[in-house]
Amino acid sequence: MTTIIAIANQKGGVGKTTTTINLGAALAENDKKVLLIDLDPQGNASTGLGVDHDKRDVTTYDLLSGESSLRDAIQDTTVAGLHIVPATTDLSSADLELIDNAKRSYLLSETLRNVDASTLGYDYILIDCPPSLNILTVNAMVAAHSIIVPLQSEFFALEGLSQLILTVRDVRQTANPTLRIEGIALTMYDKRNNLSLQVEEDARENMGEMVFETVIPRNVRLSEAPSFAVPVLTYDSNSKGSIAYRALAQEVIERTTKKKAA
Ligand code: ATP
Ligand code: MG
Repeated sequence: MTTIIAIANQKGGVGKTTTTINLGAALAENDKKVLLIDLDPQGNASTGLGVDHDKRDVTTYDLLSGESSLRDAIQDTTVAGLHIVPATTDLSSADLELIDNAKRSYLLSETLRNVDASTLGYDYILIDCPPSLNILTVNAMVAAHSIIVPLQSEFFALEGLSQLILTVRDVRQTANPTLRIEGIALTMYDKRNNLSLQVEEDARENMGEMVFETVIPRNVRLSEAPSFAVPVLTYDSNSKGSIAYRALAQEVIERTTKKKAA
């Protein structure tokens, strides 16, 4: 069975793409077969994993518009066992084009949750969401079994969270009753900074066990890796960033395996 996880937070630059790429790579290191869906018109996950713009003939846009099957949209990345459906700026017009489509929230769900997708044998499908609660993110939430929310360890971090949780609640009440929040991952954490400590304390106090034990440190290797088109695990395997994302992957494997067994 495939576990589908959306990486979402409507706030920009909080570490969604970094988490998608490196969690994906860390799961692949554990012999999991992983597919990334780049659902952001910025296409950062595609670039960060070495899919050049001139190789993006078939994209997430074609999946949503029904012009391509999932199988035909999948490409290899620079990491064995980690595949991707890339995105281009085309995807930004999906918002407008889909408005009259009654099934517009279910387009991604229909491609990822059907028999054809299950024959591809993925253990995990990770969806990198855009920084918005638009129709693209709603598609991800309808398609996913669960959500991982990267939370930047900075002042306003918790403010947007209530809006995100309301959207999750809406989706649960309508299209996807079993959608759950897999966990909240604190990112760009700096243990020498009081603000990071404060955000962590607030998050753990308010959200309890929903917050992953692993925190992702601010680590320059994480920001350098994408320009070499590889995850940090390839770029600098012993960096703090690599170690943290490996630990996060273990927690995700534990949480998702437990839920499957329950
Ligand atoms: P957007 O909302 O634009 O899609 P995002 O939420 O996907 O952004 P990222 O692109 O992952 O965020 O990260 C934003 C920037 O911060 C990038 O330049 C990235 O390299 C850097 N970054 C992310 N996580 C870390 C980290 N733990 N340490 C250092 N830099 C980081
Ligand atoms: Mg991003």
